Amino acid sequence: MAEGYKYHRVLLKLSGEALMGDAGYGIDPKVVDSLAGQIAEVVNDGVQLAVVVGGGNIFRGLAGSASGMDRAQADYIGMLATCMNALALQDGFQRAGVESRVMSAIEMKQVAETYIRGRAIRHLEKGRVTIFAAGTGSPYCTTDTTAALRALEINAECLMKATKVDGIYDSDPVTNSDAVRFDTISYKDILANDLHVMDSTATGYCMDNGMPMIVFDLMVPGNIKAALQGKNVGTTVVSSVG
Ligand code: UDP
Repeated sequence: MAEGYKYHRVLLKLSGEALMGDAGYGIDPKVVDSLAGQIAEVVNDGVQLAVVVGGGNIFRGLAGSASGMDRAQADYIGMLATCMNALALQDGFQRAGVESRVMSAIEMKQVAETYIRGRAIRHLEKGRVTIFAAGTGSPYCTTDTTAALRALEINAECLMKATKVDGIYDSDPVTNSDAVRFDTISYKDILANDLHVMDSTATGYCMDNGMPMIVFDLMVPGNIKAALQGKNVGTTVVSSVG
């Protein structure tokens, strides 16, 4: 049990864009190293951490299909993009001295284990960061949906959604300086107010199964640990408020 932490087993969702830093494309090793350092600290304290990584820094299925590709085929390319990010993250974890495993929803034995739920839980119990790659393995899904699904499967106490913004606002804080941040909000209110935090499938999975979520700014060093300790670093999403 990790002393001083509110959450002991969590799933961290990293968008592909988070890995590209200020570059417009690809993977910035400096970002990966900084992330790995933050994650090393909490894992060494005993937190069990699983990661779902996106692929938007490399390829998005929707963008492919908008330019004329078959949607499912484009989504498979997107899923393979998440595998590249997962391997880059694993490399960063290794350099930070954190043991990790990449588990892919699409079989690719030479580079990753195939996802098996029980084995993933075993890795977590042994203190290995478990990186889930290739999304759900099915097209027409996102890695937000993957994150919600895997968080439920591994009995995570919380889904941590790392973004570039420090929480959920009633309107876009980039374009509206009067936007107000929520400390806490319910999934119902997210849907009712059409707040685009995750896609509706991911929101539905979390809402219907009571999976809490913390939305926080990944770019602030120390935020992962603070969020895990229950400090107010973003917005907490719960099944119902009040
Ligand atoms: N994808 C998919 N099925 C999944 C997860 C992802 O088909 O279960 C594809 C989809 O094309 C998506 C791409 O992989 O656009 C990259 O994932 P996502 O857009 O969620 O990445 P992020 O926005 O988090 O970087």
